Order: sequence, then structure tokens, then C-alpha cells
Amino acid sequence: MGKAIYENYLKEKRRYLAFLVLVIGLGVSISGLSPYVFGEVIDIFSGEKQGDFKTWILAYAFLLLLAQVFSVLESLTGQWVVTSIENRMKSRLMERILRLRSRSADGFEKGELLNRLEFDVETVGDYYIDLVSSILMIVVNLVISVYFIFRISLELSLISVLFFPLMYLVNFAFQSRVRRLEAQQKKVEDQYYSFVGSLFTFLNPLKTFGIQDRMQERFEDFLKRRFQIEMKNVTLTSGISMLRSLLSSALNVILLTIAGIFITQGKMTVGSLVAFNSYLDMLFQAVSKMLELNLNRQSVVVSYERIQELEERELETETDGTYLLQEEIREVVLQKVHFSYRQEEPVLNGLAFSITEPGLYSLVGENGCGKTTVLKLLERLYDTDEGRICINGREIREYQMAGLRSRMAYMEKEPFFIQGTVYDNLRLGNEEVAEEQIEEACRRTGIHRDIMEMDRQYRTVLEEGGRNLSSGQKQKLGLARLLLRKDVSLYLLDEVTSDLDGGAEKQIAGQLERVAKNAIVISVSHKEELLRRRKRISLLYEGEIIESGTHKELLERSERYQKLYQTM
Ligand code: ADP
Repeated sequence: MGKAIYENYLKEKRRYLAFLVLVIGLGVSISGLSPYVFGEVIDIFSGEKQGDFKTWILAYAFLLLLAQVFSVLESLTGQWVVTSIENRMKSRLMERILRLRSRSADGFEKGELLNRLEFDVETVGDYYIDLVSSILMIVVNLVISVYFIFRISLELSLISVLFFPLMYLVNFAFQSRVRRLEAQQKKVEDQYYSFVGSLFTFLNPLKTFGIQDRMQERFEDFLKRRFQIEMKNVTLTSGISMLRSLLSSALNVILLTIAGIFITQGKMTVGSLVAFNSYLDMLFQAVSKMLELNLNRQSVVVSYERIQELEERELETETDGTYLLQEEIREVVLQKVHFSYRQEEPVLNGLAFSITEPGLYSLVGENGCGKTTVLKLLERLYDTDEGRICINGREIREYQMAGLRSRMAYMEKEPFFIQGTVYDNLRLGNEEVAEEQIEEACRRTGIHRDIMEMDRQYRTVLEEGGRNLSSGQKQKLGLARLLLRKDVSLYLLDEVTSDLDGGAEKQIAGQLERVAKNAIVISVSHKEELLRRRKRISLLYEGEIIESGTHKELLERSERYQKLYQTM
């Protein structure tokens, strides 16, 4: 784990790390000298040793001051290094999340992804910076303290050193329990963040269902579960550190007794006992830090595995084809396509259709019969399990995905908006488009007037997800964005007029008809206005196309279409 972390994240920042290590090294060396100087001051003061009292006091004051300066420098540098390394890790992880294949991403809840991106990265980052900065502290402290304690008293030092293996045993006995608890805690946190995320997404429906109290209860249940598991964790870690402290207290009492005897026998001075104690403390600190790092490693392993799990999921780039689509899409053929999201739950069963000329085409069928899935397969968000999808006679997997998608425009029932102005949002996917073109497209979808009534017109900032727009306005804006796309020859529209009134629907139908003169437009729609204008409607049933024809033809000959049409 350590090597991979170093290679992936720390290596490129190794100069910062080296600087941090230098600052820490100087800091601990300076602090390491002060107990020695303090012991000298006491012995000179009590007349046990000869020396210039003033010089030693000044030296002591100077060391303390320098130690303070280095401690501030260390925390500033430490924070800087930690944040830059963690930001690097987060940006790398986000890069992957944004490019995950849909099937890989389907396995994660939103809250879970957030938890991994934020807290797991921070656990791993903090640990390694702590490790790098502590190693030097540990080594310097070990060297200085061992040197001085052995110099002061060989007997006392030997007794002290015998205690350390016992402390390690305490750690060893508990480490697997620490790791188990950590994994449990992470799981509870994933669920907590996903739950809270969905509450915030659905604030309004929760009110209309009158289930705020129920949700509050569930939220409090989550808090309780988090509380319980946190308490378990704290109990365990404080139990471990209590056992370690008990051991060190026992050692202190033993040492004090023996040192008392040595002092009365004249084998030791009081000053050297004070210095011995400080150095022993330093040694304890170093050893405790080593043990603590070892224990923390257990939770880092859990976080690291969670990050790795994301790193190992398949990316879209890994399944990318090589052929660059440079011409228009003129032909879309599906041959015996089988597809399922989950094993044993087939969605498409040998679906086949072919479109060989521009025009408006529709997929209709009952809810859940797989219409949206067909559009997603065409966008290559998913790949077929069996069968082929060919575009211009070539298997879809052979194309470079970016090139393929730049020729397609996909719109869902609820178009997405990011925080930004109307202009910003309409430029998504087409950065160069001029303001006049944007306004023209908005006129064509009938949203221009609404925008002009907004307080800052096209510079009005749309809130997250377009919250300050009605659902119909969102669809009109989404459609305007669609019309602005250049070089598109295949439009995939999923219920994009579902929230429009009759007049608006007619206007959009007219626009789509215009687009369809030179492009293939496949839509999933139950709206009559759109269906009547379709060149061909394909009726999906149980994962297959069972009928195809114009609206009129299907009404005449298909009972199933008639039924569906009556319930639209
Ligand atoms: P339609 O558009 O015809 O209403 P869909 O293509 O959206 O139907 O869905 C077809 C089936 O696949 C449904 O049973 C749905 O529950 C299932 N499904 C859709 N998306 C997913 C997904 N990401 N994971 C698992 N099952 C899914």
C-alpha cells in the first residue's frame, strides 16, 4: 500500500515533503537539546556543577524561542503539504469518477462517492503526511533520548527499555478489532450521507407526502447508529491508550524508587534525574507515536481499499474504439440486441430495428419496457450483452466515443443545469456559440420571452439543477441547447416534451420536424402531437419491437398500440 501511495500521490510532491522533513528535523533537534540545558541550569543553580549561570539561562531561553518558531513553521508547512497532496488525490479520483462506465458507477450511491472522495482521501493523506513528518521526530527523539538516558544511568535505561515490547503487545492484540470497527463505521457513514443527500434532493415531495416526521425519525436513527459506533471506536482506542499509560506509570514509579536510592547513595544528582525523566518522556513519545501510527494504519487500510475500489472500476476510455467518426450519421441498425442491468433480469431480448434515412422516429411502449435503455445503448453509456448496434455500417464499439457522441445529442426528460447564467448553461457542449444564436434558439423553443422577464435576463443565474425554473421552462431551455449543438446528425430524446402545454408542444414538434429533414431523430414520447408527425413508430414489448408503422397504420392494425394510445 505504502509504495503505491508514494508512487501515485507523494512522489511528485517530494520536494515539498523534503522541505517539511527539514523543518521538522531542525525543530525536534532544538527541542531535544532543551532538557539537557535545563538539567545543567538546575545543577549549576544548586551548586552541584560549576558554570556561568547567566549564559546557560540565556541559552535555555534562546532554545525555547527557536523551538516555538520552528513549531509554527512546521504547522504552516505541514498544512500546506497535506492540503496540496490531498487535493491532488481528490482531483485524480474525481477525474476517474467523471469517466467511470455507467455500469461501474451504478454500484455506488451518491453519498458513498462523496464519502470516499472527501473523508477516505483525507484519512489516507493525513496518515501519510503524519507518517513522513513523524518518522523524523521519532528517529531524532529516539537517538537523542537513548543517548542521554544511557549517558545518565545505564541501570535505569535498561529497566526502561525492557518495558517497550509489552507496549507493542497491547497494540498487536487489538489491531484487527480496530480495523473491523473502522470498516463498520465507514459503511454506516456511506448510508448516512446517501440518506441525507436524498432528503435534500426531495425536500418538496417529502412535504407533500407529509413524511417529514418519519424522515426526521430515520435521520435520528442514523445519528444514533453513528453515535454508537463512534463511541465503540473511542472506547476501544482509549482502552488501548489507557493500557499503555498504565504500563508507563508503573515504569515511572519503579524508576523513581530506584533513582531515589541512587541519589541517597550519591550515584546520581537531582539535575540528572530531572533530565533523565525528560528524556525518558521523549523516548515514550517516540515509541507511542510509532504505536499510534501502527494502530491508525488499520483505518487507513480500510480507506485505502475504498479508494482503490474506485480506482479499479472500469473507465469509459478503457473500452474506447479507435475509428474516428467524421461523417454524418445516416444509418442506425440494431441487430438482435440483448441487454440486462442485473444478471437474470433481461431488459432487451433480441431487439432489432433499422433506420436508414433522416426523419422522426418514435419508440413507444409501457413503462419499464426498455425505451430509455435503447437510447443509452446508442449513446454507449452501456454496451450490449449480445447482438450488434451499427452506425453507418460499423459496430458502435469500434468508434472513438468522444467523436461518436459529438455527432449525437441526448436529452432526458429533466435536462441538467449547472450553477451559472442562462448563457453559461446554453453554451454547455458548444462553447463558441454567440449570444445572438443563443437568443435565436430560445425564440425557436418559445422560452425567450420568459428569459427576458427574468431580473437579469440571459445573465440570470440558474440555481442548482435549474430550481428557479418550471419543469416546462427547463425542457424548453434544454431543447434550445439541443438546437445549438453543431454537427449533430442523431438526436436521442427521452420524453423531452412531457411537461409542455399543447401550444408549446406544437411549436417544438415543428422545430423537431425541421431538424429531422437532415438528421435522424429518435424519441421516446407519448405525446400525440409528436406521434402524429412520426415517420415510423416502433412499439416495444417485453424487450422486443413487436410492431412498426406510422401512427395511423398502428392505430388501424395494432390492438396493443390502440390500448397504449388510449391510456396516454
Ligand atoms: P422505459 O424507458 O421503457 O420506461 P427503461 O429503459 O428506463 O424503461 O428501464 C427498463 C428496465 O430496466 C426497468 O425495469 C428498469 O427498472 C430497469 N433499469 C433501468 N435503469 C437501470 C439501472 N441503472 N440499474 C438497474 N436497472 C435499471
